[in-house]
Amino acid sequence: MSRPGRWARSPLDYHAHLLLPEGEHPSGVLKARCGDLMITGLTQHDQPPPGLRCARCHLIFLADASVR
Ligand SMILES: [Zn+2]
Repeated sequence: MSRPGRWARSPLDYHAHLLLPEGEHPSGVLKARCGDLMITGLTQHDQPPPGLRCARCHLIFLADASVR
């Protein structure tokens, strides 16, 4: 059973991105499923936060949800 992904709001584009699973981030950065890189230490959310959301990450999230 896969765990829902975690989300973080990028300070670069102010969109919420779906993060790669724990342990799959390059060192020193947070990497989103769409490929965007973010600084570490951002607040992470278990649910997509309200507001702008990365369109690519949203589609990946929907695809993941339909597989479960
Ligand atoms: Zn994204």
